[in-house]
This record gives sequence, structure tokens and C-alpha cells, in this order.
Amino acid sequence: MIQHHPSSVVLASYAAGSLPEPLGLVVATHLYGCAACQRLKTSVEAVGGSELEAMPPTAMADDALAAVFARLERPAAPLVPFERTPGLPPPLDRCRFDPWRRIGIGLRWRPLLGSGTMVAGLLEGMPGRALPTHAHRGLELTCVIAGSFVDAGTRFAPGDLAEIDGDHAHRPTIDGDTPCLCVFATESVRLSGWLGVAQRLLGE
Ligand SMILES: [Zn+2]
Repeated sequence: MIQHHPSSVVLASYAAGSLPEPLGLVVATHLYGCAACQRLKTSVEAVGGSELEAMPPTAMADDALAAVFARLERPAAPLVPFERTPGLPPPLDRCRFDPWRRIGIGLRWRPLLGSGTMVAGLLEGMPGRALPTHAHRGLELTCVIAGSFVDAGTRFAPGDLAEIDGDHAHRPTIDGDTPCLCVFATESVRLSGWLGVAQRLLGE
């Protein structure tokens, strides 16, 4: 049973196609397993469409209207078609990842290719492992694929989406007795989020 969902702002941005692709991928992973958010996304899209229909055609410059349509028609998380990655749920099975990289004992990550200035990928941790406390700026989304973790007293299980925005220090810990696999994306490009941990551990 999914307990944690994206905020309405994030879901609306995703539905409008304005969320950067790596963040959209995390939302799409959550949506794959969450009927409630799928329904919400459909209604957001319907509202966006009806507002456009109600708009007098002369109210906007042609190019502005075209830009709005282009944005609405653009898939929220266009994914690079690629050979399926076995063991991952859609839409992650169509994404390209770098090989696994160790980031300490019992932790490893696979960067998502084509993330641009964002940092995104898969993260896997063994039971009992914790990331060092880290702080970051901007939006960070994480969706659990398998296993679970606890962050600031809240438990995130498969399908749950953890959304962290703004300045925030935290220390996610893998709980349960199976490895925890997540997909994550963060806006920040400074030493922050999961990559900040990786960079510090690797001394890069
Ligand atoms: Zn949901």
C-alpha cells in the first residue's frame, strides 16, 4: 500500500510536462504503481485542456499558443528507447544507466545517462546501512523500487515517493532485512544529495 505521494505542485508540473526529465522519471515510476496519482494526473491534464479550449484564439499570439500546445503535448517524461533492463519496472526498464559504482560499504549507485545538469540514477543499499547526514538545495525526489528506508522517522516502502525541497539535512537509513533499491533525482549540482555523498566518499 503506497503511503507517500508527490506534492500537488510536483504532480501538476509533471502533468504539464514542465518537470525536468530526471525528476519526471521518478514521478513516472511512482505513477506506474499508484492509481490515485494517475487519476489526479488525468484530471490535471483535463483541466489544462479545457482552459485552453475556453480561451479565445485571438487572446494570445500564435507562437505563444503554439508554445503552450507544444508543452502540453510533450510527454512528461520522454524516455530514450533502449533495450529493456531486466528486473526494473516501467518506465525504468527503458532507461540507460552507467554501470554500478560503489559509494562505500553496502551502498552503490548507477547514474542515469542523459541527466544533464541534474543528478539522477538508481541507488541500492544493504540492510542497516545509512548515508552520512547530508544537506542539499533544491528538489530531490526518490521512489522506492524494492526494500525500504527510514528518513526522519518516516518509512518509505515500495512505490512510496519521498519529496524533499529546499535546505534540508537528512540521513536516510535502510531498514528491514532486504536490500533497498530506489530511483532518485535531484536538482542541485553542488556537493549535495546522493552524489554529494558519492563525491565525498570517493574524494572527487
Ligand atoms: Zn501516488
